Amino acid sequence: MDSYDLIVIGAGPGGYVSAIRAAQLGLSVACIEKDATLGGTCLNVGCIPSKALLESSEKYAQAADKKGMGAHGIAIGKLELDLGKMLGRKDKIVKQLTSGVAMLFRKNNITSLRGVGRFTGKREADKHVIEVVGGDGAVAQSIAGTNVLIATGSKVASIPGVEFDIGEGGASRVGTSTEALAWPEVPKHLVVIGAGVIGLELGSVWGRLGAKVTVLEYMPRLLPTMETDVGDAALKLFKRQGLGFHFGVRVTGAVAVGDGAKVTYQDGDVEKVIECDRVLVAVGRKPMTDGLGLAAIGIEVDRRGCVGVDEQFRTSVEGVWAIGDVIPGPMLAHLAEHEGICAVETMAGQPGHVNYEAIPNVIYTHPEIASLGKTTAELDEAGVAYRVGKFPLMANGRAKALGETDGFVKIVAHAETDRILGASIIGARAGDLIAELAVAVEFSASAEDIGRSIHAHPTMAESVKEAALDALGRVINF
Ligand SMILES: Cc1cc2nc3c(=O)[nH]c(=O)nc-3n(C[C@H](O)[C@H](O)[C@H](O)COP(=O)(O)OP(=O)(O)OC[C@H]3O[C@@H](n4cnc5c(N)ncnc54)[C@H](O)[C@@H]3O)c2cc1C
Repeated sequence: MDSYDLIVIGAGPGGYVSAIRAAQLGLSVACIEKDATLGGTCLNVGCIPSKALLESSEKYAQAADKKGMGAHGIAIGKLELDLGKMLGRKDKIVKQLTSGVAMLFRKNNITSLRGVGRFTGKREADKHVIEVVGGDGAVAQSIAGTNVLIATGSKVASIPGVEFDIGEGGASRVGTSTEALAWPEVPKHLVVIGAGVIGLELGSVWGRLGAKVTVLEYMPRLLPTMETDVGDAALKLFKRQGLGFHFGVRVTGAVAVGDGAKVTYQDGDVEKVIECDRVLVAVGRKPMTDGLGLAAIGIEVDRRGCVGVDEQFRTSVEGVWAIGDVIPGPMLAHLAEHEGICAVETMAGQPGHVNYEAIPNVIYTHPEIASLGKTTAELDEAGVAYRVGKFPLMANGRAKALGETDGFVKIVAHAETDRILGASIIGARAGDLIAELAVAVEFSASAEDIGRSIHAHPTMAESVKEAALDALGRVINF
């Protein structure tokens, strides 16, 4: 039986990055992946294809002059959408990146095995024996690992009454994000169930391409875990783009009917029905542990299906670790990567640590919405005194030149120490701008540190500096 220092189960961003880092540290590594391509949800049906379509659809919306192209003095004649080509571009990007992971595995001498990885509960010279099960259900091979890292990610969650109808060739009328990344024509009316990140991003994509989009959300307001002014500003901007929202409603059913679909929901005491031609169910994701054989080694999952871990990502069983979407916490690709790096560095005898206060969270709508650290509501509840600095993009020269003046940067700093505790940005390229604040939080920087750092002019990043100065009562340009 082949044996390794580390067996990684799952080749998503958590698993493949862990495998590479472990190989760099001198560990012998095998990575088992059940799907035909590497890269997991993120590269195949998540972060990357959604961003490819967001970029393409944004260009289309600009060209259609929904985004003020005329103000630049540019008029475009007849506009045509070649959706097949747009989807093809997305598929090409996915292919390049997933085959890139295969290349990185070869470069780092990582053994890549295709199949479902399964715990057996057996031991071989103190190592965990893992079976690799092929598509036919037969065990293709068994391998042994001193350490096993569970990086099996997540799968789509649903709600009662929703009947997925997932077929080949874009047939699905009631589908998940995976289907919504490949619909062969623009829906006339798309109903999105769930106003979370995925619902907002893919709702934006199809809305920009011409669909009427109605979003149904159980919570009473948009983005309830973010700063209230961010949620309010986002709602105003999304409505301006034509997205329709119903908050505080409970979807009770979604079913394909003929070549369309019917969604029923409870709005207070009233049951309502919407007939549409596509439904995107975007109510969240749940940990993926199917077929993993956790019971064979005595690991139990919690109420939400998550595998429990300690701060260095050890499970309750010695030599078995878990990271990414399969453990409790935010489901984010970059977090999965960092948890994996922490786990394998700990395995290799190094100190491993993930700072959960410095994890940026980005929604790639237009404008983008990014946040990290604590919100003012959380600080109020914890009784922490703070100062807020806010700078509107309207007052930023580069934003004016770009025609991207919607939004603001908000920084929350400790009232006495001035240490940055949280930040939110709504505006163009917010996802890139938040990186500075993630570094600031990681280095325990103060608003004064950012306010005194020289930011190039004219850049959107100057708004971050100005927001920091505002927290100190010294804003210049507003
Ligand atoms: C539409 C969409 C858009 C998203 N956009 C973003 C974004 O912009 N930014 C962001 O940070 N996050 C985004 N996410 C979330 C992100 O994709 C996940 O947080 C991330 O992929 C989690 O990484 P992971 O390695 O834990 O799991 P995954 O990426 O899910 O990878 C797990 C892998 O394990 C494999 N596997 C499972 N069980 C087994 C088994 N028993 N044996 C072998 N293989 C197995 C799976 O096939 C999969 O390849 C998005 C998700 C979706 C659906």
